[in-house]
Amino acid sequence: MKFRNFKMVDYVVFGRGAFDQLDEILAPRRKGDAPMIFFTDHFFQDKPAFAARIPLRGKDKIVYIDVTDEPKTKYVDKVRDELKAEFGEVSGIIGIGGGSVMDMAKAVALMMTNPGSSADYQGWDLVKVAGVYKVGIPTLSGTGAEVSRTCVLTGPTRKLGMNSDFTPFDQIVLDPDLIKGAPVNQQFYTAMDCYIHCIESLQGTYLNAFSRSYGEEALRLCQEIFLHKDKWDDDADEKLMMASYAGGMSIAYSQVGVAHAVSYGLSYLLGTKHGIGNCIVFDKLEEYYPEGVKEFKQMVKKHNIEIPQHITKDLTDEQFNKMIDVSLGMAPLWENALGKDWKEIMTREKLRALYEQL
Ligand code: NAD
Ligand code: ZN
Repeated sequence: MKFRNFKMVDYVVFGRGAFDQLDEILAPRRKGDAPMIFFTDHFFQDKPAFAARIPLRGKDKIVYIDVTDEPKTKYVDKVRDELKAEFGEVSGIIGIGGGSVMDMAKAVALMMTNPGSSADYQGWDLVKVAGVYKVGIPTLSGTGAEVSRTCVLTGPTRKLGMNSDFTPFDQIVLDPDLIKGAPVNQQFYTAMDCYIHCIESLQGTYLNAFSRSYGEEALRLCQEIFLHKDKWDDDADEKLMMASYAGGMSIAYSQVGVAHAVSYGLSYLLGTKHGIGNCIVFDKLEEYYPEGVKEFKQMVKKHNIEIPQHITKDLTDEQFNKMIDVSLGMAPLWENALGKDWKEIMTREKLRALYEQL
């Protein structure tokens, strides 16, 4: 097919307090006494007031998801095996958290019905059977994981998502109240993931009017929140939540670029998290995104954020080579950023020099 025909999220609810509508949203999706499983970010483990708002019925269960590390295929398989052993079938999986928990929810929902290990499905369109019903509820905004057709997993040989038409959520609940009060640095790193999605999409060679419309709007929202506001307020939560949504929609029809391709290498080798890793890389990308990087530095300064420096200074040649391999493996990202002849532009030497600056 010449033009991409992509599957989107089926239902979206947006509004402050929308989370309290969850019971009503789930009711028609319950299958007999098969439970709904609420994957909840471990940040909420010692917050009983939050757990009390989760609409448990019958055999429903809250499973706290440990996101100390970004999701691994092994963790997905383990949680799937445990759910199968305990319940046989479930009615659905609801992921309440940042990008990591939302990706876990997507992955486990798919693996409830697809045989084998989640590592077998890392790639494009390898998932052949619909998973169980799944809902995404962000408590951090920026990744766009709430709208994307992937769930990023680190497997035995690579970090790659399960990209498929079965991967998007059936329902998302966007409640700006839930992102209120996240730690300032974390919120910034995750929000910058959105900002970087916009810059990479808008300056990419894959850009079309669909991507541009969403990308420009998300960019405008990010600028409003991080450059033009004097303090964080309710309006900022709402705008950030919509920026993440629009940023995700923008890359649905285009691709990310240099920052993501380089940051994937850091993440694979050093376990650097997605948001902060993108910031570490983007900070050094004046050559590719001059205006975006200039504005990014203004936002960092205004919000007193620390971007780690010199994280690659003690690495060996072998380690640099591993990162370069992982990064150059992301062909569509490089092609979007630099065009069809990207291999002539981004040589191993040039990429090594970039990694050495980080
Ligand atoms: P995250 O989900 O990894 O969470 C970061 C930290 O914030 C964790 O310690 C978590 O416990 C905490 N946290 C979450 N919500 C909080 C809240 N309301 N208050 C306080 N702390 C809170 O962070 P993220 O940046 O949202 O997600 C990054 C992940 O998303 C990575 O695993 C990345 O691979 C993935 N990702 C996926 C997509 C996609 O399209 N599927 C796109 C980009 C990134
Ligand atoms: Zn990203």
